[in-house]
Amino acid sequence: MNYGHPLTFGTFITPGADAGADAVSLAVRSEELGYDLVTFPDHPDTFDTWTLLSWVAGRTSRVGLSANVLNLALRPPAVLARAAVSLDLLSGGRLSLALGAAEGAGEAIDVIRGMWDEDGGPLRFDGEHYRLGGAQPGPPAAHDVPIWLGADDAGSLRLVGERADGWLVSLDECGPDRIRAGNKLIDEAAVAAGRDPREIRRLVNVPARSGVEDLLPLAVEDGIGTFILMSDDPEAVERFALEVAPALRETVGPTGRQLRRASVRAVRRAGIDYDLVPASLPVIEPGDPGYSRVRSTYLRGGAPGLVIRPGDAGQVAEALAFARAHPHLPLGVRSGGHGISGRSTNDGGIVVDVSGLNSIEVLDRANRLVRIGPGARWTDVAAALEPYGWALSSGDYGGVGVGGLATAGGLGFLARDHGLTIDHLRAVEMVLADGSVVRASETENADLFWAVRGAGANFGVVTAFEFEVDEVGDVGWAQLVMDARDTATFLERWGAVQESAPRDLTSFLIVSPPRAGRPATGHVMAMVNAGVPETVIDRLQPMADIAPLLDQQVVITSYAAVMANAAGDGHNGQGEPVTRSGLVEHITPEFAAAAARLIHSGAVYFFQIRSVGGAVADVPADATAYAHRSANFSVIAFGANRQRVDKEWARLEPYVNGLYLSFETDARPKRLGDAFPPGTLRRLRELKARYDPDNVFRDNFNIRPEES
Ligand SMILES: Cc1cc2nc3c(=O)[nH]c(=O)nc-3n(C[C@H](O)[C@H](O)[C@H](O)COP(=O)(O)OP(=O)(O)OC[C@H]3O[C@@H](n4cnc5c(N)ncnc54)[C@H](O)[C@@H]3O)c2cc1C
Repeated sequence: MNYGHPLTFGTFITPGADAGADAVSLAVRSEELGYDLVTFPDHPDTFDTWTLLSWVAGRTSRVGLSANVLNLALRPPAVLARAAVSLDLLSGGRLSLALGAAEGAGEAIDVIRGMWDEDGGPLRFDGEHYRLGGAQPGPPAAHDVPIWLGADDAGSLRLVGERADGWLVSLDECGPDRIRAGNKLIDEAAVAAGRDPREIRRLVNVPARSGVEDLLPLAVEDGIGTFILMSDDPEAVERFALEVAPALRETVGPTGRQLRRASVRAVRRAGIDYDLVPASLPVIEPGDPGYSRVRSTYLRGGAPGLVIRPGDAGQVAEALAFARAHPHLPLGVRSGGHGISGRSTNDGGIVVDVSGLNSIEVLDRANRLVRIGPGARWTDVAAALEPYGWALSSGDYGGVGVGGLATAGGLGFLARDHGLTIDHLRAVEMVLADGSVVRASETENADLFWAVRGAGANFGVVTAFEFEVDEVGDVGWAQLVMDARDTATFLERWGAVQESAPRDLTSFLIVSPPRAGRPATGHVMAMVNAGVPETVIDRLQPMADIAPLLDQQVVITSYAAVMANAAGDGHNGQGEPVTRSGLVEHITPEFAAAAARLIHSGAVYFFQIRSVGGAVADVPADATAYAHRSANFSVIAFGANRQRVDKEWARLEPYVNGLYLSFETDARPKRLGDAFPPGTLRRLRELKARYDPDNVFRDNFNIRPEES
């Protein structure tokens, strides 16, 4: 029987009397040798297996982890369920739960699954072996943790068929004939329970002497998908990994992806060929645990049909090949999930989520070159650079991801002194629509490098950014709340002070309409790129003088401390805002009057102006796809109703010249013309026709190739 499971290999390691030290190093070695899984037995008289698994999880980064098998007499299932979720989360989704088929194993599986039911609430269970009066489930696991059962009598084999995700057996104890008979029993029980036998993985512990000729019939004729080598001898472990496993893989040939449980298949979305998802790709489907954590983004609720979570550029290419085979579906590309304009979630489509590519490494200390994955968040980037006395101008919120911001612009608190985030880019690695992995810099694919700095979302998935970062010491960080009842005058004064200030001052202003008896207020967040109190006061005093101060806080701190303002990374799509935005040269009296009317109209709940200018304007307009270099301010208004926001925004339009796409949600084609001057847009269309002729990347302000 071929159950279509990808072939995987594991080790079975016995913790010795040395408190597990040898077992840990053999597990680490197993990972280095390319094994898929490390497992440990669970006996009351040896080292505690769960502790060992946790320790090994911390010492490894890729390999799967499992007991072989857990002794249910030692481990109450409700406690085990929570421990499993914790270890799965801590290990990045690497745990499998292998249970011994003791009496009560069926109830144990029900309790564990009940504890994992995301919609279930506190679990009440009244069984023969287990009773629970409202056990509190924890968070969902990082992935669909499979439950395997170690079984060999008829009753427990039937239980495997009815309820487990895998059958684990030892070749020495069972032998090929009993394995075949066991498979038959399991398959019959599965069918009788309305399941597809392919949902159940077959795993066999094999002795150290096993060779390809012993294992091949088990793989080909009996559908064994996982072979686990029982040996504590490092040489045997190495020989099996380097000789037996590759030879067996080659002889067996390509295999598929394990069939998901019926409950998962039942909630699949139409139009996605789930059976064609490459087995190597980590994915989350709507029925999988953890789906609630990935379905939405920071500002948008979503219900994608498939979230693919590649671990490297090769897997991004595989994910894009899968997406290309589904041209009728929306395709979201997600890094940090904070897109305002970009739809990095969708309804029924595919999301390629590169949040796992989040490493931050120093490439060249002398030249301050760092390489950052798109999934890193700016709070983590700032924290990683701080020990070197470096910083990279990013944005105002540490939770935002590198991928979306560094392909669009990056207007942050160091902008006037150090320019946009994209101005620090020296190279990117990206996967193009056709799956090719390319590098772009001033000297390699220079035109692509130009396009990525401002219009990156249209050209591919960036898998690594290389930045030259700045030396940045302590900064002055101020939050001033001011009376802005005379809103137009307030805006005009703030603009004048900001525009005439030295470059080391960058401030953002949020103006709120009158609320609950309070007058309109202006909330200034200002960074002075100098750690000297006198300079900080000198820069802030003119700003503090523009209107009565209601509240103030000024500190000398680090850039990283300012960026340490991110909430946790679970997103549930708060807000669904409607925005309009634009770039402005000066806060003229006319602009200020129009903006004041907009703020007081009731159509917007959030209105912000950021200072840009300074170093941003040092870069020639045609040097990057972000072209509106002469603007001194960026304006954004958030509301809830498109028509009302558009109507009120119309007052500002005469004064607006250019647009930063990251702040815009109006998807009408005219906005592209606002974002890119005609020459820039023409060049972008030509490049789009070359790099993405089939318009695979179309879900974020689409630059269509054919309109050139
Ligand atoms: C609270 C908040 C504060 C913000 N503050 C600032 C700020 O101070 N300055 C500023 O400039 N912007 C700011 N933004 C806007 C932000 O820069 C953009 O929304 C940005 O796209 C978010 O990046 P992300 O990776 O988190 O988003 P995601 O939602 O993951 O991605 C957004 C879009 O970017 C594209 N994209 C994502 N990853 C990649 C990739 N690896 N390769 C190619 N394209 C990709 C996709 O089209 C995607 O739809 C803020 C947004 C929020 C919600």
